[in-house]
Amino acid sequence: MDVLEKDLHFMQLAIEEAKKAAALGEVPIGAIIVYKNEVIGSAHNLRETSQNAVTHAELMAIQQACNKIGSWRLEETILYVTLEPCPMCAGAILQSRVPRVVYGARDSKAGCVDSLYHLLNDSRFNHECEVTEGILAAECGQLLSDFFGNLRKEKKATRATTGRKAIPFTKLKSAVESFLCEPLQGRIELRAAAYRHSHDERSRVSLTLDTEQIFSAADLSYINEHFNLAEQLEKELKLERLSAEELAEAQLKEQGIIASWHLYRALAQYPNLSIADALTSENPLIRSYALLDRRVGKRKLKDMNVPQHSLEKRFYEIRCGAEGIHS
Ligand SMILES: [Zn+2]
Repeated sequence: MDVLEKDLHFMQLAIEEAKKAAALGEVPIGAIIVYKNEVIGSAHNLRETSQNAVTHAELMAIQQACNKIGSWRLEETILYVTLEPCPMCAGAILQSRVPRVVYGARDSKAGCVDSLYHLLNDSRFNHECEVTEGILAAECGQLLSDFFGNLRKEKKATRATTGRKAIPFTKLKSAVESFLCEPLQGRIELRAAAYRHSHDERSRVSLTLDTEQIFSAADLSYINEHFNLAEQLEKELKLERLSAEELAEAQLKEQGIIASWHLYRALAQYPNLSIADALTSENPLIRSYALLDRRVGKRKLKDMNVPQHSLEKRFYEIRCGAEGIHS
């Protein structure tokens, strides 16, 4: 075998080592140390498995070789490694006096043989190496790019799965509604107090709404149900001069109008606000919605069916509009 044939043969063995690393989910780098045509050290990167930063392929191969030879001096050896050595390994190569290093692919980010530094060929050190680069470089590099390509795909898949596990829309809605409940109750109480001092109930009922109604009658009764005000209404009825039926109808309508108004104000303003603005808004509804909203990703919106209930639907449409998603 001439030198090139030998280099190709042993680099192939280093590649086999690198593949063992890949099988463990390790960055695929393999190293072989040859002494008089005999392999006396072979190792692959084990940084993740060992959770130890010094378990690089070259370092472990050097340790094996030293054990085999019974000396820290690895004279007359050749170190084959699939990737250009890092500063740590280049240091160990110098320390162990390895006379020749053959590597596959360059490492533009950490390589200290040719890429960033020339640690193996610096005459200020008391040892220099003969270096051969580019042996089976394409194959060595391909192993690495396949590995990182798969890693990116897996990460993407994990993100997608996480996205699907975003807060259920019902939870978002109920959380916003519970925020809505507080100011609404305050308004209802005020309004109810006003009834007791007025004979002009009907006109007062329409005071709060000066904008178009955005929810159907069914939506309003749904909102009212959620605000759980039936009991309070029951109390107020006993104090009123109106017939129970008339007052019930009036108050139910007002609750709906106030609820609609609050929601309308919060939701209609939202798309014009940045998330940062929404988060610092004086309107507690916008604040709460923005907080919740931030945790529901685009993917969730894209994946979900358009809600049937118009209250949910309104939240959904506004959020989609803000995200530029057209359903
Ligand atoms: Zn290294």
